[in-house]
Amino acid sequence: MPNPSQNALELSMFSCLSDNYGYLIHDPVSGETVAIDTPDANTILKEAEKRDWRLTQIWNTHWHPDHAGGNEAIKTATGCHISGPQEVASKLEAPVDNVLSGGEVFKLGSHDVHVLATPGHTLGHIVYHIPDQNIAFVGDTLFALGCGRMFEGQPDIFWKSLQKLRDMPDDTKIYCAHEYTQANLAFALSVDPDNPDLQAYGETINDKRGRGEPTIPATLGTEKRANPFLRADITDMQSRMTGGMDAVATFAELRKRKDNF
Ligand code: ZN
Ligand code: FE
Repeated sequence: MPNPSQNALELSMFSCLSDNYGYLIHDPVSGETVAIDTPDANTILKEAEKRDWRLTQIWNTHWHPDHAGGNEAIKTATGCHISGPQEVASKLEAPVDNVLSGGEVFKLGSHDVHVLATPGHTLGHIVYHIPDQNIAFVGDTLFALGCGRMFEGQPDIFWKSLQKLRDMPDDTKIYCAHEYTQANLAFALSVDPDNPDLQAYGETINDKRGRGEPTIPATLGTEKRANPFLRADITDMQSRMTGGMDAVATFAELRKRKDNF
């Protein structure tokens, strides 16, 4: 059995479009390189070239153009193999070779990749979790101190998706698709003003942004203590948001207030 620490995936994170992050992961053992989503084909292809990585795969999280809009150009340029939800083909008419719907486990070199269905932002949204590297690519389902807009789902299914992500180990590094953290922080403080973990996390976030640094990856354990959308089943949050209704109603109220914040 290879020692995972001697067989680490290499990761490149870079800005795309106005506030998306592009990600490439490279397995030096198998030579595979994966683009997580395709916000901007040119930027992604240039990054792969700069690193001298041959791009062999795309993994899409959902169908939105800032996530799958570069599929066609990257496939044409590299001949890579694309995995993603059916909605990438049906809604965006972008190429997908291997349709995933959640529950699958596949390999990247020697690493297991777990696919989680996380409907809510879109109905086909999926997340890629690589347990031996403690990393998860969560697209627009979960953000640092936030979650995606509920474009297609309903509160009950979105809440279930967030609970599924919350069940990953606390030291999981959360790679989300946008730098929305400072705006999310302002909202989080408005609904959970007395949370000391949130206040401390907020200082770290403001320091990083002040230096022009990304706030990503977030760590799941910190998110569980500070992200209001992961705390809809906490009694205090429920009483503040809904006068004591259940987690689904509390999540729905949080999502509604964030939409209007
Ligand atoms: Zn999206
Ligand atoms: Fe997005």
